[in-house]
Amino acid sequence: MPDSMTMSRNGMVSKIQTRIRTDAFKNNYDLVGKELGRGKFAVVKKCVEKSTGKEHAAKFLRKRRKGQDCRVDIINEIAILESAAGNPFVVSLHEAYETASEIILVLECAAGGEIFNQCVADNDEAFTEKDVIRLAKQILTGVAGLHRNNVVHLDLKPQNVLLTRAHPLGDIRIVDFGLSRRMDSMEEVREILGTPEYVAPEVLNYEPISTATDMWSIGVLIYVMLTGVSPFLGDEKQETFLNISQVNVDYSQDVFEGVSSLAVDFIKSLLVKNPRKRATAEECLKHPWLNGHSNPLPHLHNALRSSLDEPENSPSESEPELESPA
Ligand code: ADP
Ligand code: MG
Repeated sequence: MPDSMTMSRNGMVSKIQTRIRTDAFKNNYDLVGKELGRGKFAVVKKCVEKSTGKEHAAKFLRKRRKGQDCRVDIINEIAILESAAGNPFVVSLHEAYETASEIILVLECAAGGEIFNQCVADNDEAFTEKDVIRLAKQILTGVAGLHRNNVVHLDLKPQNVLLTRAHPLGDIRIVDFGLSRRMDSMEEVREILGTPEYVAPEVLNYEPISTATDMWSIGVLIYVMLTGVSPFLGDEKQETFLNISQVNVDYSQDVFEGVSSLAVDFIKSLLVKNPRKRATAEECLKHPWLNGHSNPLPHLHNALRSSLDEPENSPSESEPELESPA
């Protein structure tokens, strides 16, 4: 860890190397196209650097949220991105700007969008198991690198894992370090809450958070990538939380139609309630599912649904949503 990094007891880093520019972002970049995405407090837009013609993604972060000054959180996000600069599967930070109300992070553009889109897609758009194996290796290599550096992401989900391109399928870029922390300075973090569906039991129980917390989320993520179903999602938050704390997971043939049993075995090594008994990123990378030589069966859940069954209800035009287990 560089000496210049200053840490607080909750794992937030307050010293950064990046010079935050106060000249106008607009002087150096043109915004192009529509929004790339948005989260709770940020809007991300595609932009082109005038001096180089290169495309980037500009993440506009509001400094005030719910009446609170959140500049320290944004500085922590920058610090974590800096510490992951050599990680090939983490989005790179190019520059940062500050205005009276916002901090703008100029990031590498992951033009393929969120893996979320392929998780909710139908047949030909959805990932095959072979795709998921390749992408899972990249996610795990990226996360193993973070964990080796004592960084925990704490918000791994299909909206925060992007692709360099969608067709043909590119490589993984992990984004959104807004909840990330450094473990080496973290005495007790019990208050951070990620997204209900992806959150580990220890987070719900206000037990200490560790790198294993990310591994749970990766288990949920891989489950969703292979099946299109969100394993713990209930009709209400309370039901989701109950499903998580009881580790109520459906591994039946119904859900895993056409998916190899090694994949199911892999997920089972992650969706383990006791964080100490959960597989680590390094252990996952050695799992036979990711190191097999045989071609796994194609991923059939959506294909089957559309070819064997006449749809009972015609598909709606509403926003895509993940399916919850029936
Ligand atoms: P938040 O902290 O508000 O969730 P994110 O960093 O997750 O912000 O960004 C919100 C969304 O913007 C992401 O889910 C993704 O769709 C899009 N996005 C973020 N970073 C990039 C990037 N570097 N390239 C392309 N799209 C991005
Ligand atoms: Mg996000």
